[in-house]
Amino acid sequence: MKIAAVRTHLLEHRLAVPFESASMRFDRRAHVLVEIVCDDGTTGWGECLGPARPNAAVVAAYTPWLIGADPLETEKIWARLYNALRDQGQRGLTLTALSGIDIALWDIKGKHFDVPVSTLLGGRFRETIRAYATGSFKRDGVDRIEDNAADVARYRSEGFHASKIKIGFGVDEDLAVVRAVRNAVGPDMRLMVDANHGYDVLEALEFGRKAAELDIDWFEEPVVPEQLGAYREVRAGQRIPVAGGETWHGRWGMREPVETRAVDILQPDLAGVGGFTEARRVADMAALHGVRVVPHVWGTAVHIAAALQFMAAMVPNPVRVNPIEPILEFDRTDNPFRQAVVKTPIDHDQGVVKIPSGPGLGIEIDRDALAEFRMRDD
Ligand code: CA
Repeated sequence: MKIAAVRTHLLEHRLAVPFESASMRFDRRAHVLVEIVCDDGTTGWGECLGPARPNAAVVAAYTPWLIGADPLETEKIWARLYNALRDQGQRGLTLTALSGIDIALWDIKGKHFDVPVSTLLGGRFRETIRAYATGSFKRDGVDRIEDNAADVARYRSEGFHASKIKIGFGVDEDLAVVRAVRNAVGPDMRLMVDANHGYDVLEALEFGRKAAELDIDWFEEPVVPEQLGAYREVRAGQRIPVAGGETWHGRWGMREPVETRAVDILQPDLAGVGGFTEARRVADMAALHGVRVVPHVWGTAVHIAAALQFMAAMVPNPVRVNPIEPILEFDRTDNPFRQAVVKTPIDHDQGVVKIPSGPGLGIEIDRDALAEFRMRDD
C-alpha cells in the first residue's frame, strides 16, 4: 500500500454572534481537514489545530515526502517529515500540520487492520468518557456575567458534570463572572477557568488567590506559553492547580514544562502536539513525572474522534480500583460543521460520550457537509 494523494479541506462558518477569548476574537470558525488517499482506495482523515489556510500550506509542503510512502510506517514518516523542516520548525505550524497528517495515517492503519486506533495504541481502558462543556466566551452585545451564568446552568441541566469558563479580561470582572456561575450552579458542578494567556503573573496570582474559595479544578493558560518561569510562579503562588499545553508541541516542547513542573495538568492536543505518534510519547513522559494529562480539543468531529481514540487507550495513572479518568473537552459554542462533517455525529448523553468502536477513528466523513461549509476565497 502506498500513499497516492494528500488533500486538504478548508471549512468555515460565520458566527451569528461573534465572541472573544482573552487572546482572540472569533467572527467565524475555520478548520482544516487532511485527507490521505492510498493506491488501494483506503482513505484516512486528520485535522490540524489552528489557522486553516497556513496549516493547509504546510501540509502541501510536506506532501512530496508522503507520495509513494507506505502509510503504515507512521514512525518512519513522522521522523522524516519532522526532520525535513526541523531546522526552521520545531514548534508551531510545522507540528500542527504534521499532526493532521499523522492522525490521517493512523486512521488508514486502523482501517487496514480493521480495528479502532485505540486498539492499535494498546487497547481500550474505557468505552465511554465524561465530557466537560467548554463555552462561556465573552459574546458581543450581552452582559457577560449573566450570559456565562446562564450558559453553565444550561450545561448542568444537559447533564454535564463540569464546565470551563473563559477569563483573562480583567481580574475583578472575571471574579464576578466565576462567582455568578458558582452561585447559579451550586457547589457540586466542577468548574475550571481558562485565561487563554491573557494575564501577567501579578494578575494571575491575584485571580488565583481570590478565586480559590470558589472551588476551581484548574487554572488554564494563566500566562503566555513561552514564559515557563511565570507559569512556575503562578503554580507556587496560589492554590488552584495550573493547566496548560495546547501550544506546546512535540516531545521537546513538552519536556521543560513537565520536567520543571510548570503545570499540574498537561493538555496536549492530538491535532497540535504531533498526532498519535507524538501524543503517546508525551503522555508517557507526563506519567513518568507524575503530571496529569487532560487532552485539549478544539475543532471538528475528526478532532474529537482522534482525541476519543487516544483517551480510550490512556493508561490510568496510577492504576487502581477506581482510577482517575480522563475527561473530554467538548466545545458547546455555535459551530454547525463541528458535527456535520461526519455521518454519525459524536454527541453526549447526560455529559457522557461513547467512544467510536469502528475501524480507524471510527467515523465516516460526510462529503456533502465538506462542500456545504467549504471556505470562500475572500
Ligand atoms: Ca484553552
